[in-house]
Amino acid sequence: MPSGFSWSELDVDSSRVLVVNEAPLPSGRDFVLYWCMVNHRADENPALDAAIALGNHLSLPVVVYQALRPDYPHASDRLHAFALEGLAELPAACARHGLPYWLELPRSPREHRPRLAELGKRAAAIVSDLFPAFIIPGHLRGAAKALDVPLFAVDASCVVPMQRITEPQLGAYTLRPKLRKLWPEYLGRSFSPRPLKATRAAKQLSPDFALSDAKALRKALDTFQIDHSVPPVPDVRGGRAAALKTLQAFIETRLEGYDTERNDPGRDQQSGLSPYFHWGHLFPGEAARTVLKAGGEKHPGMQSFLEELLVRRELAFNYCTHTAVPRQLSVESLPRWARESLETHRKDKREHLYSLEELDGARTGDGLWNASQRELRERGRIHNYLRMLWGKKILEWSPTPAEALQRMAHLNDRYALDGRDPASVANFMWVLGLHDRPFQERKVLGKVRPMSSLRTAEKFDLGPYLERWARPGDAPVKLPRRRNPKK
Ligand SMILES: Cc1cc2nc3c(=O)[nH]c(=O)nc-3n(C[C@H](O)[C@H](O)[C@H](O)COP(=O)(O)OP(=O)(O)OC[C@H]3O[C@@H](n4cnc5c(N)ncnc54)[C@H](O)[C@@H]3O)c2cc1C
Repeated sequence: MPSGFSWSELDVDSSRVLVVNEAPLPSGRDFVLYWCMVNHRADENPALDAAIALGNHLSLPVVVYQALRPDYPHASDRLHAFALEGLAELPAACARHGLPYWLELPRSPREHRPRLAELGKRAAAIVSDLFPAFIIPGHLRGAAKALDVPLFAVDASCVVPMQRITEPQLGAYTLRPKLRKLWPEYLGRSFSPRPLKATRAAKQLSPDFALSDAKALRKALDTFQIDHSVPPVPDVRGGRAAALKTLQAFIETRLEGYDTERNDPGRDQQSGLSPYFHWGHLFPGEAARTVLKAGGEKHPGMQSFLEELLVRRELAFNYCTHTAVPRQLSVESLPRWARESLETHRKDKREHLYSLEELDGARTGDGLWNASQRELRERGRIHNYLRMLWGKKILEWSPTPAEALQRMAHLNDRYALDGRDPASVANFMWVLGLHDRPFQERKVLGKVRPMSSLRTAEKFDLGPYLERWARPGDAPVKLPRRRNPKK
């Protein structure tokens, strides 16, 4: 901790804070910088609130700085459009709290300037986001080397701070009781940013570079050097306003029955909120509080939603927090029983082997799988139950488990609006046995939990799903007669 203050004295929960660079606080600087990488919102943002607390302590204004490069992995029209729609809301949202918002949107890697080191010379300290996956830990490490001011990463992603759970968890069953004990401390907490004291000084600050206009550039996606073959998802908008609207619509129309119907691919009973959590447009604590208020503590839909949002999601963050990025997507990081069992069956003959291109193009002999891949390509998501089946089949149809992991990551992260997230990584690993238990041994999968399209068709009425996502030419899906399917 740099000398001069402690986070708890500033009324900031120190378990949310990771000290990335322990440099001493310099004097004579212009501002505290919030380097916004993950949590693209001004409200309900513990990282921004921590930056303001530090600014107030030092009697300095706080500047929000953000740069969205065009060369992050899988950058495409789809991902950029969603992100820019969120960024377009930030100038006004920051202004409401007296915060200058400085945005840079380089359109090609050559346009990108390593601005942080320059801003670091004007800043007394830098606060950023703690996020244990994708390129974020690497960016923080790189920044720490380039800066001689304190750099803090603050957890604005989880309700119970990741650092409160000090061990990697075996599964939801070990994490759940620990979280439940901590919920009374965390669930009720709101993070409206505290008032900034140095608002007058904030008005006098100016960047030494030209600011970008996200709203205008959203209309000019073709000017970015990104993948133009993955188009924006029609009817899904990014940003906090859209996130809050989606949350409200979920409460009004889908919370009732979420516990019993969530897994049924024929019904759209899920919240659809994961892209907003991934891009930081919505804080999960805020979503949990709103749903709790609407449903009441005993509401079965609400309880089931909190299990997904607070237990399953934070289990994924727990895995990534305790596993370094290079080892996150690796057979070596699986539980021993899964690793050994997959190794025993590594050379088993696969019933089908598809290339990555065949998978990407939804051209397998399994009509239900093809439909789910099509949903991913066109809608940027897959219904949760089918997403599990989607992953399991990729494992069965790939030459090795390690290759299956790479393929899942490539396909999911290329198309999914919520991809490149700890929930992506931990769930690809779940497909191979992480956070799960052994099942009866069989070919290829060994003791890893199997899933089958036929069994899925027996469990649910897939008619409505196939009507939407199957195409002529797909292999027919065997549907049990009693379901009276439409197709
Ligand atoms: C192979 C595979 C890949 C996946 N990839 C992703 C991904 O890239 N990004 C992602 O956010 N989730 C991923 N998941 C988890 C889950 O499928 C999605 O979170 C969920 O379907 C998102 O839809 P929703 O917001 O409507 O969920 P809801 O059912 O409304 O759930 C509410 C929230 O709970 C969280 N949640 C729900 N299920 C899970 C879960 N199994 N693990 C972790 N968090 C969960 C999400 O934040 C979600 O928004 C993946 C699952 C599998 C099996």
